[in-house]
Amino acid sequence: MVTMEQLVSLCKRRGFIFPSSEIYGGFQSTYDYGPLGTLLKNNIKGAWWRAVVQERMDMEPLDASILMHPRVWEASGHVAVFNDPLVDCKACKARFRADHVWFVEAVHGEETKPFAIEAGEADEAEAKAREKYQIGKKWEVRLTPMIIDAPEGTPQVCPTCGEKDSFTEPRAFNMMFKTEVGAVAGSIAYLRPETAQGIFVNYENVQQTMRRKLPFGIAQVGKAFRNEIVTGNFTFRTREFEQMEIEYFCWPEDGAQCHQEWIDARIAWYTRYGIKRENLDLYEHPDHKRSHYSTRTVDILYRFPIGFAELEGIANRTDFDLTQHGEFSGKTLDYFDTKTERRVVPHVIEPSAGVDRNVLAFLTEAYEEEELVNQKGQKDVRTVLRFHPALAPIKAAVLPLAKNRPEIVDYATALAAELKPHYMTQYDDTAAIGKLYRRQDEIGTLYCITVDHQTIDDDNQVTIRDRDSMEQVRIAREEVLPWLRERITV
Ligand code: ATP
Repeated sequence: MVTMEQLVSLCKRRGFIFPSSEIYGGFQSTYDYGPLGTLLKNNIKGAWWRAVVQERMDMEPLDASILMHPRVWEASGHVAVFNDPLVDCKACKARFRADHVWFVEAVHGEETKPFAIEAGEADEAEAKAREKYQIGKKWEVRLTPMIIDAPEGTPQVCPTCGEKDSFTEPRAFNMMFKTEVGAVAGSIAYLRPETAQGIFVNYENVQQTMRRKLPFGIAQVGKAFRNEIVTGNFTFRTREFEQMEIEYFCWPEDGAQCHQEWIDARIAWYTRYGIKRENLDLYEHPDHKRSHYSTRTVDILYRFPIGFAELEGIANRTDFDLTQHGEFSGKTLDYFDTKTERRVVPHVIEPSAGVDRNVLAFLTEAYEEEELVNQKGQKDVRTVLRFHPALAPIKAAVLPLAKNRPEIVDYATALAAELKPHYMTQYDDTAAIGKLYRRQDEIGTLYCITVDHQTIDDDNQVTIRDRDSMEQVRIAREEVLPWLRERITV
């Protein structure tokens, strides 16, 4: 399995993701998507829009603003409770989310070794502990939450400096970024910590302008901001990130069924685009972890290099949001069915996925180091990103076999230009063909199209090499576009 270091290195080397403000030494877990990362991210969002809006009869798109009326965040509960409990170590001043500190015991026969680890989930804590403390496979690892839900007597040890009993009491911390609006000081606004509220406040606008009947949903993609106490694991947890969110409005009695249907639909979406089912898991939130209004919340977890962790959350939020906004705005947000003359506050199912975590998941899934035997009979390794055709940033690369022959170069550039309006196509002549192939494999390009002497002198045909099988076919130039069309699925 690919490690996070391998991913970070490939992303930097090949132009997927760069540390932000790098020439200034970077800035606190912020990242910029490079040319290929931008394409990959757009393709993921495109595949999401396709599945959740275009292919369905019951969904509408929306693009609401990031800055909203401050009352929105009072109604949503974010002003009051968007808090993560955190603790500081009095000795080394390190700060932790109180639910992210673990007491770890490595046990082998009679021997027990204690450690402290900071990690989001138990799986991640075990993987981190094994790596950091070189805990061998024969050792069993036992994990206990150190602060939140800790059994009495759990040792309190700082994961950073190892000091005992040095934590402050857990205290609340509001994760919303505050800003001032306009020239007059004191006019407060927040950067939205989720995109969802933009949907709730537009529920009636969309329902009425689109003449929607229950059930129907609204989908939105956009940036969200959370002043996370602890960021890290590359783009897994950052303070600025992007979400793909749906609010699906339904009759109260249909909530449980719609919820299950969305869980199934979202799993089907991930597997449609190449995530193996065994790399996905579901986490049912137990009663004490769920918001009071939610009747059921299920997370879709992905097997990231750090272990299984949340990729998307799907909550049954009942009528909480529309009721709250109704109360706070003074405008009743309900639904009236003219046929049955029934009036209800719709219930809401919320599938909420992180775009950046999706990018990370699809990169993890696609990454493969394949062992090969080269033409000289030597062992070789090629790194290949096996993206689904719809997600691959570059669909085709046109490569001239000899760049010292102008006819070949002209032919190849003309072919690349011809393909570009249809597919993201690269032209590259900056290395020998073997190296060009490897480069394209490493960014997941589906097809490499080579132009050679025979193309010019003889048959007007080109060679197309398949990324996955590395098999080559020779076809007429005018066949290239139809050939690609047959294979590049949505
Ligand atoms: P976590 O428990 O990991 O903090 P959450 O349960 O608070 O996540 P939600 O509020 O359900 O997350 O947000 C929906 C999705 O948004 C998450 O499944 C995740 O993919 C993404 N997300 C949330 N916080 C971040 C973040 N700080 N960085 C990147 N993505 C995030």
